[in-house]
Amino acid sequence: MFAEVIAIGDELTSGHRLDTNSQWLAERLCELGVTTLYHTTVGDDLDANVRVFRNAVERADIVVATGGLGPTADDLTREAVAKTASVELELDAASLTHIEALFARRNRPMPTTNRVQAMFPRGSRIVPNPHGTAPGIDLSISRPGRGDARVFCLPGVPVEMREMWAGTVAPAIAALCGPERQVIRHHRIKCFGVGESELEQMMPELIRRGRDPLVGIPVSEA
Ligand code: AMP
Ligand code: MG
Repeated sequence: MFAEVIAIGDELTSGHRLDTNSQWLAERLCELGVTTLYHTTVGDDLDANVRVFRNAVERADIVVATGGLGPTADDLTREAVAKTASVELELDAASLTHIEALFARRNRPMPTTNRVQAMFPRGSRIVPNPHGTAPGIDLSISRPGRGDARVFCLPGVPVEMREMWAGTVAPAIAALCGPERQVIRHHRIKCFGVGESELEQMMPELIRRGRDPLVGIPVSEA
């Protein structure tokens, strides 16, 4: 089972903000025994987002997206996922109540735009967001001739994303993987005084692709 992580936001593609969420998600997927084959970063553009989600659903069984679930015009994830799955967005009354209650608790009027955060692609399971206004999306998208792809969309705010991962997404992915699931562990062996090609020559079999465990040689000047 392979995964793709999608990070969404102009602040990421422009370089104004470092995408730390993708790193965190990929590490968590590893712990669940899921290999992440692709990381994609995309700006806040609807057509580009739809292309990215279509690609991801085609080439990965599990897709975890972060960002673009806010209430403003640049938040396009829910619409992009609905288009990818060819379904409509529909209102979830319980999510709307949750968002309204959050504003009431803060003694603030709810802007009408926040209502969009209670809209979900038809067929979605809802990923609760206990401390934020953006619930997440958990949607299975069918693929002709093979099993469904499972798409999870989480907010970009790291603290919300992490809480929702732990509370809902990680258990759902663990269940998808079944009781036989494995854990991917990483170890670092530091070698000094030789270049990377020299090191490969010393143990060519060890670096072979497809080997288990898989060995890579990242080089460092330190
Ligand atoms: P969004 O959910 O797209 O409205 O993002 C809300 C905020 O979360 C952004 O303004 C960023 O500060 C932060 N954020 C979004 N995506 C990421 C990411 N991939 N890594 C780190 N922080 C992020
Ligand atoms: Mg954004």
